[in-house]
Amino acid sequence: MDKRIGFIGAGQMAEALARAFIAQGVCRAEQIFATDVVGERKEVFRSFNTKPVDSNTEVVKSADAIFIAVKPQYVSVVLREVRPHLEDRHTVVSIAAGVTLQSLKDAAGEGVRLVRVMPNTPCLVGETAAAMCLGGKADDSDADLVRRLFEAVGKIYRVDEKLLSAVTGLSGSGPAYVFVMIEALADGGVRAGLPRDIAQQLAAQTVLGSAKMVLETGKHPGALKDMVTSPAGTTIAGVHELEKAGVRAAFINAVYSATQRADELA
Ligand code: NAD
Repeated sequence: MDKRIGFIGAGQMAEALARAFIAQGVCRAEQIFATDVVGERKEVFRSFNTKPVDSNTEVVKSADAIFIAVKPQYVSVVLREVRPHLEDRHTVVSIAAGVTLQSLKDAAGEGVRLVRVMPNTPCLVGETAAAMCLGGKADDSDADLVRRLFEAVGKIYRVDEKLLSAVTGLSGSGPAYVFVMIEALADGGVRAGLPRDIAQQLAAQTVLGSAKMVLETGKHPGALKDMVTSPAGTTIAGVHELEKAGVRAAFINAVYSATQRADELA
């Protein structure tokens, strides 16, 4: 792509995104401009051949798509700082958790192309499940741009902003639920006599492979489950225990409760 990409805040998320854009051929290193208040972070960006710049304003002057990748409490501050330099060619992409389109607009001003993205931690390994919503003057061309960029680090879906709390409850918080699941599966393996390291690898690879089957076959997860549960077999015995423990209700409640908490914090 011919767009230049800027990062205000060159932390973990910015680094993961920038490295993926280059690795996936979305853009060249020379098209990326990043800055940070911490000099070391700029050096990290320099180490993979991108061009660190000296100020947030310089990022805006140098780039077309501007990632706001600072912690949520600093988002308004940096947007107010760069506001006089924002033009129609800019797409401002905030990845800050819980910062609404309205507060982005209040800080960046009317008439700015705004995209709010809710990524999740697996962004750091190129497998994010993200959602975006548009605000200000953003249109389909901004959505296409952000989709192309995030497809370098996983999958992204467009939703109304009112659904972003549900996205937070599901995919935003979801990695923690899956980590708990992997740990518990590994504990089960250890209980049954497996060494810890092998149990953990088997548990994690089982989650990865099962997720891939859902995504690649497009089959309903219930149908895939039925395919591996033979009559009076081992798997249905295990599934029966999960059902007795109310595992489905536990996952539903986890997502719903996290969604409500996201609404309270918004
Ligand atoms: P981080 O702390 O690694 O990076 C933030 C960077 O911003 C830091 O390097 C900091 O020095 C810099 N910074 C602070 N004030 C600045 C300023 N005024 N100008 C320029 N740079 C400044 O944080 P992160 O984990 O990369 O998170 C960045 C954003 O992504 C946050 O808003 C967070 O809510 C969001 N997010 C992160 C994750 C995740 O998995 N880490 C998931 C979803 C959303």
